[in-house]
Amino acid sequence: MSERESSLQPLVQRFEPYQVERLRQAFPILAQRIYGKPLVYLDSAATSQKPQAVIDAMSRFFLEENANVHRGVHYLSLRATEAYEQTRAKVQRFLNAAHAEEIVFVRGTTEAVNLVAQTYGKVHVHAGDEVLISAMEHHSNIVPWQMLCEQSGARLRVAPIDDAGELQLDELERLIGPRTKLLAISHVSNVLGTVNPIQSIVELAHAQGAPVLVDGAQAAPHLQLDVRALGCDFYALSGHKMYGPTGIGALYGRRELLEAMPPYQGGGDMILSVSFDKTLYNKPPYRFEAGTPNMVGAIGLGAAIDFLGGLDADALAAHEQAVLAYAQEALATVPGLRLIGTARDKIGVLSFVLDGIHPHDIGTILDREGIAIRTGHHCAQPLMQRYGLAATARASLGCYSNEQDIDALLAGLAKVQEVFR
Ligand code: PLP
Repeated sequence: MSERESSLQPLVQRFEPYQVERLRQAFPILAQRIYGKPLVYLDSAATSQKPQAVIDAMSRFFLEENANVHRGVHYLSLRATEAYEQTRAKVQRFLNAAHAEEIVFVRGTTEAVNLVAQTYGKVHVHAGDEVLISAMEHHSNIVPWQMLCEQSGARLRVAPIDDAGELQLDELERLIGPRTKLLAISHVSNVLGTVNPIQSIVELAHAQGAPVLVDGAQAAPHLQLDVRALGCDFYALSGHKMYGPTGIGALYGRRELLEAMPPYQGGGDMILSVSFDKTLYNKPPYRFEAGTPNMVGAIGLGAAIDFLGGLDADALAAHEQAVLAYAQEALATVPGLRLIGTARDKIGVLSFVLDGIHPHDIGTILDREGIAIRTGHHCAQPLMQRYGLAATARASLGCYSNEQDIDALLAGLAKVQEVFR
């Protein structure tokens, strides 16, 4: 064990009460100065920063274990395969899935949704059928369904939200009917922070025989997940949003559904045998993992899950809620600021607009103060249209965010308003 590892080990284990200052030390990038100012990273919903443990696990894989998985009989290939498959089991436990075979490695949430649309969707969604989504979806949970609807002649329906950014459950219920062949919904909105009541939504959909795909990209870093308690049929997540690397994510699919689904892409690893006359496909999850996978990404994802597992989940949630409450109070004091997304159940995503100031100007001025926020439509243009906006500024929190970050944001916003006075 390296010196750094041994110093990190107790850090993730002694987190009661939540010691955010110590936790921040596990994220080397946070020590940086930007334009001579301490980095204030408030863009975790776009991508989270990575703890040293994840960086170390990935470099250790290249230093000690790298070989192609599932194909070799030699030592390194077996070791790499074991590490890769161990991560599958970690994702299974993280989601409380019943079986490791229910976890398919993908590039991220986007690929997971496309995979379901182009396999399950192709088989089950036909002309006259309907796919139901909500008004708060990210483009990656809209466009794959639009493509499927174009291909099949099915209709895309959209459940509305209210002004606070809460799903209108009665309207959703009204929209679910015998034509609904699939309901796809985000667990947490990347713009509003709204946490959707997935369990109730699943009950409504299942009552009409419609399976449910949950986009968990924004939920995975913040909520304790249990796909069996949620009752959903598919659950998608992205490693890079949950302190892991880019290019890796996971799709959970109920075993019976995955077993009945055709392959997504063809190539190596997804087959049992190939001849020019006929190819026999492998069983899930391998059927859906054509080609050499992102092995080091999977190792990094496994380390990220270990990292999250080392935090006290209740303390993490309490900390994030406390910083969110602090931020909401702070932003309420800024003249002309309107918060977009005030759901009763929400996590640390703060979208806002400032009277007379374009969000891009806010982002650019804050950047010179070392403050990283996101501006734009956040890949949710229909949601922006719902609020009559082209863009918002968005500050989003991670496990390492603290009240000083919010104080810096507030001071930065005062500078922005000074410039435009
Ligand atoms: N869904 C939501 C709610 C998101 O916030 C994002 C990314 O921002 C995605 C899906 C897409 O994730 P990825 O780009 O990792 O595939």
